[in-house]
Amino acid sequence: MPTTTVVWFRRDLRLADNPNLNAALAAADRVVPVFVIDGSATAPSDAPGSSTASFAWRAQSLAALDKTLRAAGSQLVVRYGDPATMLAELCEQSGVRSVHCATASDPAAVREATRVCEQLAIAGISLVMVPGAELALPAGSVRTAADSSYRVFTPFYRTWRTMLPSAAPLPAPQQMAPLPVMPESDPLPAARSGDVDISAHWQPGEAGAMSRLKQFTDRAAAYEALHDLPAVDGTSMLSPHLAFGEITPRQVIHALPDGSEAFIRQLAWREFAYSTLAAFPSMGVAPLRAEFARMPWIDDAEGLNAWKAGMTGVPLVDAGMRQLASTGWMHNRVRMVAASWLTKNLLIDWREGERHFLETLVDADAAQNAFNWQWVAGSGSDAAPYFRIMNPAVQASRFDPDGTYIRTWVPELARLAAPWIQKPWDAPGDVLREAGITLGRQYPAPSIELGSSRGRALSAFASIRRSAEPAGESRL
Ligand SMILES: Cc1cc2nc3c(=O)[nH]c(=O)nc-3n(C[C@H](O)[C@H](O)[C@H](O)COP(=O)(O)OP(=O)(O)OC[C@H]3O[C@@H](n4cnc5c(N)ncnc54)[C@H](O)[C@@H]3O)c2cc1C
Repeated sequence: MPTTTVVWFRRDLRLADNPNLNAALAAADRVVPVFVIDGSATAPSDAPGSSTASFAWRAQSLAALDKTLRAAGSQLVVRYGDPATMLAELCEQSGVRSVHCATASDPAAVREATRVCEQLAIAGISLVMVPGAELALPAGSVRTAADSSYRVFTPFYRTWRTMLPSAAPLPAPQQMAPLPVMPESDPLPAARSGDVDISAHWQPGEAGAMSRLKQFTDRAAAYEALHDLPAVDGTSMLSPHLAFGEITPRQVIHALPDGSEAFIRQLAWREFAYSTLAAFPSMGVAPLRAEFARMPWIDDAEGLNAWKAGMTGVPLVDAGMRQLASTGWMHNRVRMVAASWLTKNLLIDWREGERHFLETLVDADAAQNAFNWQWVAGSGSDAAPYFRIMNPAVQASRFDPDGTYIRTWVPELARLAAPWIQKPWDAPGDVLREAGITLGRQYPAPSIELGSSRGRALSAFASIRRSAEPAGESRL
């Protein structure tokens, strides 16, 4: 009698380099691949997939996974509802007593698996957890000599680098024996009105990830020189593919040409963020530096809305926020500048920005997002020092010197030449007139002046540092 097991896909939406799928195929003759959406077909409630951008991504990624599975002789079963209930029901229908799933590093996914494991056990079904490959090294495994987690990136990176395994990625199974009758699947999630039109910019799914990797490896040698220039196609744009597990860091590292260290270092930042989340599970909601709990954040709904809409009057910030709204992605340099403007110049709580990014990024990821927001705000582990307040006009002059990026996303400024396109508030009246701009009409004037808002931020930081902190309070 052939044996069967269920393969529960979560954030590992691929067939290649998938240790969980391989383990399931080794343990049983046939597998039932399933993805459970915790919610209804049109309004799933599970985070972070419930956000508009990543909901749209996931919908397309699941369709791609189903297509790949069908090409291998199988198909994806989708169910809507509580994962434990749905998996137990599916096992019952298929006469199966085990479920395979990959371990995950995100504490919410760990909690989910623990709960599902307990509930399945009550029904006499075992949940087999196979080490996942979403990171090159499991979160929490890179330790200091004193067996603690690293708080500073560079020593983390050095140790991580020496520990990197050299094993090649696992091949995708070519053929998967189907069940005589596959259990019924609910419909794949459909795009909702209001979802970002990601197909114009992206190809979600394993094949899309591989093609993005191929395009990038051809120009990886230029990464170090170009990765900070938002107008140039200088980065890999692999982040959403990595976030949904359509590709693994091992596959990426394996495909890179020699001399790609600057890029590998970025992958190490991703792993450092997970390592920090493993050590401080409250990173998404609480500042890692305890004194930041006393930060006098300003409640400024108007400023926050203008920032979200890309209407702050600061061209580089607005260009980034509009790129985010229309593509679900923003260049890393611009993410830093936009986050710095929100948390330092506007003094708006980093958690407001973090929430907005989670809702709008196609690569929304609890660890990367919280880690980077705290890094920019100054409250994080190995964070940018509080006195480093990015000047968005200087950043634009350095990284978008001729204004190409700004011109693409803020077309109302298209006729302004550098240096004024980076700081229209300083442009002489006749230059603005010739470019057809009246600040406050075609394009806003910044709600706050750069110099004074910088001074205000420095005073706020000084105030939280002055107020005494009880010994041992800091989480770091
Ligand atoms: C405020 C803020 C919020 C962010 N939120 C997210 C998020 O939710 N999800 C996310 O994946 N990244 C986030 N990042 C990190 C970074 O901006 C993106 O990973 C990067 O822009 C993705 O583009 P890429 O794939 O072309 O990157 P590349 O430059 O090609 O880098 C390769 C990979 O390295 C990793 N990486 C690169 N930079 C970073 C970084 N600073 N921190 C951690 N990992 C990094 C990513 O996985 C990326 O795909 C955030 C950064 C900031 C400043």
